[in-house]
Amino acid sequence: MTTVSGQKSGGLKLVLFGPPGAGKGTQAQLLRDRLGIEHVASGDLFRHHLSNGTELGEMARDYMNRGALVPDEVTIGMVIDRIGQIGGGEGFMLDGFPRNTNQAQALESALGERGQGIDRVIHIQVADDELIRRLSNRYICRACQRPFTRDAATGAPPERCEDCPDGGDIYQRDDDTPEAVANRLTVYHQETAPVLDFYRERGLLADVAGEGSVEAVNASVLQSLEIAGE
Ligand SMILES: [Zn+2]
Repeated sequence: MTTVSGQKSGGLKLVLFGPPGAGKGTQAQLLRDRLGIEHVASGDLFRHHLSNGTELGEMARDYMNRGALVPDEVTIGMVIDRIGQIGGGEGFMLDGFPRNTNQAQALESALGERGQGIDRVIHIQVADDELIRRLSNRYICRACQRPFTRDAATGAPPERCEDCPDGGDIYQRDDDTPEAVANRLTVYHQETAPVLDFYRERGLLADVAGEGSVEAVNASVLQSLEIAGE
């Protein structure tokens, strides 16, 4: 792995990968607080461009209205535009991008034109059966949306929501059933494997074990950046 030491931590340019349920959002927040770098989440960029009706947003909307996939060029445009607003000495952490090698290549060229590059790609790894266990544990009150988990002793979710006067119905979202989670993970692995290979070949990939506590995972993430934890 190439070294990132000697880099000012404030200027670190990172990409963050992790399957659903791996705690990527929490780790992103901790990294942002610790390193003072911008968290650039592709989902946020899409919402921003759509709600502001920018040229890229209108292009994206056009494809979405037709039920078509938004082409890479549009997504790349949004990310490159956002990165361009961040000063060269400042860092950023990309989340949800790049999703394929075409996007990874475009990112590499765009940064290369500025004499920059990605310093490290953090890949938070959690075994699929653990992710299925975590995600399929989620239940929601239909009335107040309060989240619940299965009872540790009985393994069953509560029958009624105690917050709701008439005892709101507790259900599991279709997305969170074990079968649906397994499908989401299959898609995730198919999508990310080539991108992870792309960065592994460049010596930028850091695999981080994501099964411990939030603090332990954070310590491993910082270690992968050669930054000591608290
Ligand atoms: Zn409720």
